[in-house]
Amino acid sequence: MAHPSGEEKPEDYLFKIVLIGDSAVGKSNLLARFARNEFYPNSKSTIGVEFQTQKMEIKGKEVKAQIWDTAGQERFRAVTSAYYRGAVGALLVYDITRRQTFDSIGRWLNELQTHSDMNVVTILVGNKSDLKDAREISTSEGKSLAEAQGLFFMETSALDSSNVTAAFQTVVKEIYNILSRKVM
Ligand code: GDP
Repeated sequence: MAHPSGEEKPEDYLFKIVLIGDSAVGKSNLLARFARNEFYPNSKSTIGVEFQTQKMEIKGKEVKAQIWDTAGQERFRAVTSAYYRGAVGALLVYDITRRQTFDSIGRWLNELQTHSDMNVVTILVGNKSDLKDAREISTSEGKSLAEAQGLFFMETSALDSSNVTAAFQTVVKEIYNILSRKVM
């Protein structure tokens, strides 16, 4: 992100947003769906993609979101501090069909707080909402955790596109609002 200084206006900003959460919750596919309207059924998209810059319109202004994907680093518990550096927003993702990924949320929140130098606007994202029969985490359970931790909340499906744009937009809009209040 460009730092708020002098005459800069929010539309000049590049917001760094990070995707975090356990392996295979759908982080890469959420980004692929949002930025390219693509979906990878076999999970081959993760390795190598570092970040993608996406232009968005917030309140009639163009804002750029630079969205970072872990590129599989979390498999080795090796998400580096460089990954978090300068992040102003985060999508903290779990898989509604795997409780273990929901149980990891606290650890991810700790890691986010440890590595970031500011309050990161965060949305808790329950992904794979299309897999209704395999659901292990109810919507209300996700919502309660988000409320308790002061996070935004949404359930998404990278497969059927449900709420994907909305989840990214929620974060970017809030960052924009915070910065607008600071510089205008
Ligand atoms: P990552 O490791 O968190 O980046 O997860 P991936 O994006 O690689 O996805 C892991 C697996 O879950 C892949 O097989 C995806 O096709 C699948 N997947 C991701 N999002 C969804 C979703 O919303 N619905 C369903 N049914 N599968 C998904």
